[in-house]
Amino acid sequence: MRFVTIQREGYTEPALLNDQEMIGLQRNGFPDLLSVIAGAGDALDRIARWAYHPPGGERFDPALVRLAPPIPRPPKIICIGLNYRDHAAESGQQAPEVPTVFAKFPTALIGHGRPIVLPKACTQPDYEAELAVVIGKGGRNITEEHWQKHVFGYTIINDVSARDWQNATSQWMIGKTFDTFAPMGPAIVTADEIPDPHNLDITLTLSGSVMQHSNTSNMIFRVPWLIAYLSRVFTLEPGDIIATGTPAGVGFARKPPRWLKSGDECRITIQRVGELVNPIIAE
Ligand code: ZN
Repeated sequence: MRFVTIQREGYTEPALLNDQEMIGLQRNGFPDLLSVIAGAGDALDRIARWAYHPPGGERFDPALVRLAPPIPRPPKIICIGLNYRDHAAESGQQAPEVPTVFAKFPTALIGHGRPIVLPKACTQPDYEAELAVVIGKGGRNITEEHWQKHVFGYTIINDVSARDWQNATSQWMIGKTFDTFAPMGPAIVTADEIPDPHNLDITLTLSGSVMQHSNTSNMIFRVPWLIAYLSRVFTLEPGDIIATGTPAGVGFARKPPRWLKSGDECRITIQRVGELVNPIIAE
């Protein structure tokens, strides 16, 4: 199943996405996707019955709706740095023995189609295509062998980065969390449709040119290991997002560097997950 969140006048509505239509879930008792995720298998059964047996929910034409991030306010947005060997190399770093972990604030999130706004205060805005894991059942000290019980699904994140701010100190977060610097979506694809997240082509094009092209098989720290590692430190909660890092080809590593500029369009495609497109505009 695929889920989106529709931006309506003054509120958001979760919806099931089919080939032709989006089916609103609010009248089925789900105010948001967090409540679907928390409801797990029971919620998915209820939604399947509701959607396909009339009257069902309100229908929307995908061409006419505006999308919010699929989870507008996740409990956490956890980001993994330098998780692809080729990206670590282009960054002038050794392949790490433990992952670099940082966060983005929910205020950075935007949906598919919404503009990434380049702040006047940033001179080195960059892009990063990433597979994002959406946590289902929460937990602490989760073992690697049980990882699948804790994954609700997958989506796409663009880990937009202000390199001048990111590299001003050893702590990256300030450069990662400007408003609009976390495009996410368009949809969350449930885990049953992607049994193995480590075999997906991932591509980013900037204004039509391929800048990043790799496969999630090249990750250094894989999803089961990341879930075990992170949950040794803090409780993973339903709806938490883990952005799993970006492959080679980012703007700062190019000669000359290729920074995002007003008028660009960033398009991230991940096999089986979807395509996330955002225009770039100046503040
Ligand atoms: Zn990243």
